[in-house]
Amino acid sequence: MLVVKFGGTSVGKPERMKKIAELILGMPGKKIVVLSALSGTTNTLVRIGDALLGQNPAAAELEIQNLEKHYLQFINALYSSEGYKAIGEEIVSRYFSLFRLLAAGNFDDRSHRELLAQGELISTELFYHHLQERKINSRLLPALHFMSIDENHEPELDKIASRLKPIIDTIQSDIIVTQGYICRNHRNEIDNLKRGGSDYTASLIGAAIRAEEIQIWTDIDGMHNNDPRIVKKTRPIAELTFDEASELAYFGAKILHPSTILPAQKFDVPVRLKNTMEEKAAGTIISSKGTRGQVKAIAAKDGITAINIKSSRMLLAYGFLRKVFEVFEKHKTPIDMISTSEVAMSVTIDDSTHLNELLAELMTFGSIEVDKNQTIICIVGNALAEKEGVLPEVFNALGSLPVRMVSFGGSHNNISILVDTSQKEKALNLLNQGLFAI
Ligand code: ASP
Ligand code: MG
Repeated sequence: MLVVKFGGTSVGKPERMKKIAELILGMPGKKIVVLSALSGTTNTLVRIGDALLGQNPAAAELEIQNLEKHYLQFINALYSSEGYKAIGEEIVSRYFSLFRLLAAGNFDDRSHRELLAQGELISTELFYHHLQERKINSRLLPALHFMSIDENHEPELDKIASRLKPIIDTIQSDIIVTQGYICRNHRNEIDNLKRGGSDYTASLIGAAIRAEEIQIWTDIDGMHNNDPRIVKKTRPIAELTFDEASELAYFGAKILHPSTILPAQKFDVPVRLKNTMEEKAAGTIISSKGTRGQVKAIAAKDGITAINIKSSRMLLAYGFLRKVFEVFEKHKTPIDMISTSEVAMSVTIDDSTHLNELLAELMTFGSIEVDKNQTIICIVGNALAEKEGVLPEVFNALGSLPVRMVSFGGSHNNISILVDTSQKEKALNLLNQGLFAI
């Protein structure tokens, strides 16, 4: 069985929604189709929710009205017959009544999550009826019946699998449509897998049913060797290993939600990235197979804060690092890069929510310096460390560009460097020329 996921831009226009119906019809066998909300919808729902939480119902109502207009135009172009246009209007009116009902009530965090879930619910319902209108046999399967997370927000893969398998077996139809992103939490409330989470849904389903392949259809022809928004000459990468892809996704490649790879990797289900606008393009296949000792790609992650802790107590002492790390653990802040010397260490974090508390405690160890607006640039390749002369290649490419931190040897698959964000564009371009000769 295939799991095929289409992102917001792939369903964001009526003609694109029609196009993905064609694509699905061309795929052999049974498939589970995971859809995102129409592009822009989740952002609008976030704004509506924020306005309501901020006691600004007028702003929320304005957003609701604009979104409603958008959906009415959408269904008008999506459906051909008067009968289905009427069904479309009924769907839109039902969802928008719910938005207004939520807005009129005691709007809290729980209502906010319920509101956010509506984007995927409406897109799948509209798509399902498009298939119906075209007499294409399909089933709409509510993700809220099987997708769940525990109290730590971790998906419950075993439970998901045991709920999903019997349902899938009873469905005769070859096309099963379901929602990305949404789930139930341990209190059985409506929740979500965080922004961009539809990729994660696809991968969880793929792992749960041991799919042949998970396909993620977006608006770019696979993962590129460098950030195409910043570097002009980039190219799609034909093959990546799971490890390479997860490092790239974690360190900034926007094409994939960073948690997507893990479930697929666990059950060795290949993940294929494809372009809805250019279906013939090869895209990228992510699997356990791969070449060794090659630089595959570069990704960059902004918004990093570097903290330097200098303490003479670190000299020849044991247990010092543990004490420092405990401070980060206490404030639930993950550390990305680390670099140490005899009497000082630097760490980077990308979540600075608790920065002030962290600094207040870290000060008790010694003197602290903080550099904000840093960027981690991650050079990724399977068994990269085996490539002879890889470090000189990287540093020759960078020339005299100032580097704040370097990390090498932690994983065999990456070299990470930290630069000031003002240097990012230059660094990515220099590395592109130096490492890929393009
Ligand atoms: N619609 C959700 C979002 O925009 C989930 C997704 O598209 O992956 O974040
Ligand atoms: Mg996405």
